[in-house]
Amino acid sequence: MSEGVTRRGFLGTAAAAAATANIRANLAAAADGMRSHTVRPIVISSANGLETVTEAARKIRDGGDTLDAVIAGVNIVEADPNDHSVGYGGLPNEDGVVELDASVMHGPTHNCGSVAALRNIMHPSRVAKLVMERTDHVMIVGQGALRFAKAHGLREKDLLTDDARRIWMKWKESHSDRDDWLAPQKPPGDTRKRSDAAATKTEFTYGTIHCSALSAAGDLSAVTTTSGLSYKIPGRVGDSPIIGAGMYVDNEIGAAGSTGRGEAVIKHCGAFAVVELMRGGLSPTDACLTLLKRIANHTTDPRLLDDRRRPRFDVKMYALNKSGEFGAASIWSGGRFAVHVNGESRVESCSYLFKRD
Ligand code: ASP
Repeated sequence: MSEGVTRRGFLGTAAAAAATANIRANLAAAADGMRSHTVRPIVISSANGLETVTEAARKIRDGGDTLDAVIAGVNIVEADPNDHSVGYGGLPNEDGVVELDASVMHGPTHNCGSVAALRNIMHPSRVAKLVMERTDHVMIVGQGALRFAKAHGLREKDLLTDDARRIWMKWKESHSDRDDWLAPQKPPGDTRKRSDAAATKTEFTYGTIHCSALSAAGDLSAVTTTSGLSYKIPGRVGDSPIIGAGMYVDNEIGAAGSTGRGEAVIKHCGAFAVVELMRGGLSPTDACLTLLKRIANHTTDPRLLDDRRRPRFDVKMYALNKSGEFGAASIWSGGRFAVHVNGESRVESCSYLFKRD
């Protein structure tokens, strides 16, 4: 084969590959585009937000502001003791104390607020909004955030439910056999060693709710609220309360948010980057996938990679643009998100980078 043929062959393959990539991108854009001829409000959230999107859409239809609406929506999950990733019932830090992070952003005013490592207040999203409206600041953390919340009349509550305490205790007693925490005694007749008899090793878990909304008037707002990484080092702050990482809105372009490994999202200014990618012309789904590819390509620490050099963790990005196109993507297949559109709420599958075996 001559060099020319090889070169032509290569160029042909490259062109074909580029064409295929374009077709894929266009298909994703077309799928997102079809969604632009839809009835607003449009509200998207992480998969745990089916009730959230319904409530937020109802509020917007009743004439409410988009930010008040998404906050009312996530308040349902913040108050739910059975969601161990957000608010009351959230999994605690390594000392057994629930610490919450949240951020909000209001498209029409481009104003925002956030709180981090907030203890004892069930609705950190409300405190984030108070930071936005009642201070000249954007972010208040820790003890200062608690004092600020109390000054505004929010009541303290122990956020550690019995269920979350038991899950934390199981983690404490099973994550190392070189400390003094022991799993419960074996039941009579159980011949296994105590360490085998202990519950299976409990892994660190992520979990959060993000919610973005678009009104009929074309206004956007977003909120992200979480108890963050389970059993974290006290004071650890994830992406959720960081404007531009866990959530971002540009009222002329769109809104985006994230769930999953916050450290990876912070390093890529995740939500801001997705909004900027949409500004550059990408559909919401393609913008999310492009950001996730960046995260995967930049992940080089062997500790975080599997045997095929793929991230061992997951991140999900959610996006909604000004024309009503929406989408979400995850690093790993199996991700889902909730959406309210055309007057109905449903859960859809995320696009993804890698298929789970
Ligand atoms: N992103 C959150 C954090 O890192 C957790 C999550 O969404 O699962 O704190």
